[in-house]
Amino acid sequence: MTAPTPAQVRAWDDAHLWHPFTPHGVYRDEEPLLVAAGEGHYLVDTEGRRYLDAVGSLWCNLFGHRVPAIDAAIRAQLDQIAHSTLLGHSAVPPVLLARRLVELAPAGLTRVFFSDNGSTAVEVALKLALQFWQQHRGGQERERRLFVTLGAAYHGDTVGSVSLGGIELFHERYRPLLFDTLKVPPPYCYRCPFGRERATCALECATALEAAVRREGPRVAAIVLESGMLGAAGMIVQPDGFLRRARAVADEVGALLILDEVATGFGRSGRMFACEREGVAPDLLCLAKGLTGGYLPMAATLATERIFEAFLGPPAEGRTFFHGHTYTGNALASAAALATLDIFAQDGILEALPGKIARLGALLDGLRDLPAVGDIRQFGLAAGIELVQDRERRRSYPAAERRGMAVCRAARRHGVFLRPLGDTVVLMPPLTISDDELVHLMDAIRHGIEAATP
Ligand code: PMP
Repeated sequence: MTAPTPAQVRAWDDAHLWHPFTPHGVYRDEEPLLVAAGEGHYLVDTEGRRYLDAVGSLWCNLFGHRVPAIDAAIRAQLDQIAHSTLLGHSAVPPVLLARRLVELAPAGLTRVFFSDNGSTAVEVALKLALQFWQQHRGGQERERRLFVTLGAAYHGDTVGSVSLGGIELFHERYRPLLFDTLKVPPPYCYRCPFGRERATCALECATALEAAVRREGPRVAAIVLESGMLGAAGMIVQPDGFLRRARAVADEVGALLILDEVATGFGRSGRMFACEREGVAPDLLCLAKGLTGGYLPMAATLATERIFEAFLGPPAEGRTFFHGHTYTGNALASAAALATLDIFAQDGILEALPGKIARLGALLDGLRDLPAVGDIRQFGLAAGIELVQDRERRRSYPAAERRGMAVCRAARRHGVFLRPLGDTVVLMPPLTISDDELVHLMDAIRHGIEAATP
């Protein structure tokens, strides 16, 4: 059988594939990348062109593609077994991985529930929290059913995780399927919902969260937050102290704190987990994306022993957690994750991050002279550049112009692959990015902005 030509693959792509978060009416016009291979930090298309993968293949790739140690770990695992079930049974790789995750995680998180993606990691946390309150202390606090979240939050695309979300464009049309949550205005400093500027800010956002949680007190099951940064909302960085105050008010009313580190976990923040920056440990921690270095779909929801214990008892009492996916704890994904954690331990990844983060910050500052750059938000080795039509009034471009996409397309002509969130250009480069590559990345973005924002 002869290999299909790139033109054939493109035709079959148009004929058969339904792409996620993609308006198919303009898909082909926006010159989608057709990836054939990866080489280190670069994606290679079917024409042999190379692009720096500056969004980490949607925020999950940590060390580039075809990383020898991860490739070898998966190959070695293939010689043992690809997958076996964790339902009522066990397997070596996920046990080893659970132990490693517990060693790395914030204090008190001792139990690991595996699933397949970021959305399910959150879905699992929600269901665990709800069931915990039904079973803890004989169900005395079973009225705790309310989840407090942030407007503009994004926690995934399953019905439960969408219920937590606050991005109108993504979430509104599914409203009839969703359960109610209590949404507090997000800490979006550039467009502060409380009308403050840096100089006048008194962390009204944190005060509003506290007030909402105190008002609902005994009805609150959990506060659910993206840890440190609201990613999909446009890399909106929480002010210092925000997480700490969330932890404190959760404790004050006796509610749980669920932190979603799907996007921020595994080094992105400059620490292994973003909550370490504020010295906060959640009751439930959701991990995915970077867990396997960007190789295979896998997620983990970590829980405290106190939560786990509420699920113990004779089977007839029905305290079991009735949730589990076919591929839970997949052996190949576990092997990839263990190799990823080995790279962190052996290659000084976290130790090298402060220098790269500072360099990224300095290079980002160099973009501030561009009139279309409204706000630059950096969180560790991630950043969002919000483009505006009118910098003075912070007025956005009409959404229909798809400026963010146009900028990313123009940057691609300079050898960099980016995918925006609306008009925010998102950077999630490999944690191992070199200085030269950072300079190249920023040059390409400058060219892209200049070319696509008249
Ligand atoms: N939570 C957060 C904070 C995310 O950024 C994402 C994905 N961008 C998810 C959950 C959902 O993860 P997945 O796409 O793997 O379901």
